Amino acid sequence: MTFESLGLHTSVIKALTEAGYTKPTSVQEQAIPAAIEGRDLLVSSQTGSGKTAAFMLPALHKFASEQPAAPAPAVGKTPNQEMQASRSRGERPRFKPAQPKMLVLTPTRELALQVTTATDKYGSHMKRVKAISILGGMPYPKQMQLLAKNPEILVATPGRLIDHMESGKIDFSQLQILVLDEADRMLDMGFIDDIEKIVDATPESRQTMLFSATLDGVVGNMAKRITKNPMIIQIAGSATKHENIQQKVHFVDDLSHKNRLLDHLLRDVTMDQAVVFTATKRDADTIADRLNIAGFAAAALHGDMHQGARNRTLDSLRRGQVRVLVATDVAARGIDVPAITHVFNYDLPKFPEDYVHRIGRTGRAGRNGVAVSLVNHAEGVNVKRIERFTKQLIPVDVVEGFEPKRSASAPRSNHKPGGWKPGDNRGGAKPGGRTFSKPGAAPRKEGGGGGYKGNRSNDSGARRSFGDR
Ligand code: AMP
Repeated sequence: MTFESLGLHTSVIKALTEAGYTKPTSVQEQAIPAAIEGRDLLVSSQTGSGKTAAFMLPALHKFASEQPAAPAPAVGKTPNQEMQASRSRGERPRFKPAQPKMLVLTPTRELALQVTTATDKYGSHMKRVKAISILGGMPYPKQMQLLAKNPEILVATPGRLIDHMESGKIDFSQLQILVLDEADRMLDMGFIDDIEKIVDATPESRQTMLFSATLDGVVGNMAKRITKNPMIIQIAGSATKHENIQQKVHFVDDLSHKNRLLDHLLRDVTMDQAVVFTATKRDADTIADRLNIAGFAAAALHGDMHQGARNRTLDSLRRGQVRVLVATDVAARGIDVPAITHVFNYDLPKFPEDYVHRIGRTGRAGRNGVAVSLVNHAEGVNVKRIERFTKQLIPVDVVEGFEPKRSASAPRSNHKPGGWKPGDNRGGAKPGGRTFSKPGAAPRKEGGGGGYKGNRSNDSGARRSFGDR
């Protein structure tokens, strides 16, 4: 299958060739032809599967195909020209609302910026297609300037978009395509009322494409209300195997043990860049500071930072100046940096869905990745919830010199994650393989409270999959 055979416009194909895309991913193969036909889509696909192009390429194709015949703007002047004209008449400039053709709603600013950047890339050979991001945290005057250019494509987080709609800056009467990206996450974040309000402001005739990790429950109900005869595409939902990501659990006795183990794992020679996930913004700051002192090029990323600081941190990550990003869930959602080889759950996520999103920060676009969860013994039940959600067992690994005092090896005969079958457990730690021990690095012996005093013979047992305990 090629992009040409999907029937995409030549200007889109040209941009894809420049971007180095040789063939469509599986979600693109299925979604693009149906979207070109104008069908509504409900797509469950894993993060990193190429979903942005799956909705943006058919939209750009549509706009590119329309271009030659596109009529002049109905009122003759762009909002910018209108404002200048009223100024020259000595009137107070009136703001003419932007009339976008496409709206992409995303849960976070980072994902919105990423979608906008991808759109610029995919539309780089089109004459007039402008995409802008409308985000919380961005100064209003700057957003007014962007809206005044009457962009064809708006990529927005729901809250800020509503502000602009209510103050009459956006008119959706010309909207042709509505995309809800990571819809499950938007609902988790409490955006349901905002989304419904936005959907109500768009024409019935629109094409709607909804992307989500899961299409069950609340997402499914909302999807039913806002789509018409949708084509359902299930690439990989919650049960995604993430076969290119090696997942592991390391048990720790206490915080000091966790910190020392994290430092050790971050020195792994195979690591290029890493994201460390924490439960709180404060921990993200504290751990980033601590890692910097320990000599890692680390930076924090969380929702309390100004947008400018968040963008700068992400740029430094992309340029490789930041090697370890310490982030909270919301801030890290949508980060797409191919050099991220490792994800660490310093704290386990609150919701199993977030685990899937977190580990999806590595293993982007077909690469391999490693996802390590550092878990207290008391959190075993949360690992089980994740295993039930992903229908995969996460193997337990132990690093020599960092063994937990409490053995995790006592077999628990009855536990199996829901729906799991023998053979599903792939990509885990290999028996006997101490994957993280640096060649030549002497195993650290722990002294004092956090030190290993247990029996080494527990080692192989401790490396069993979690579900066997
Ligand atoms: P997404 O799931 O949209 O976040 O995309 C994940 C990554 O895959 C991004 O870095 C994209 O640039 C990349 N990507 C998307 N489609 C393709 C493709 N057909 N070939 C190669 N890379 C792709």
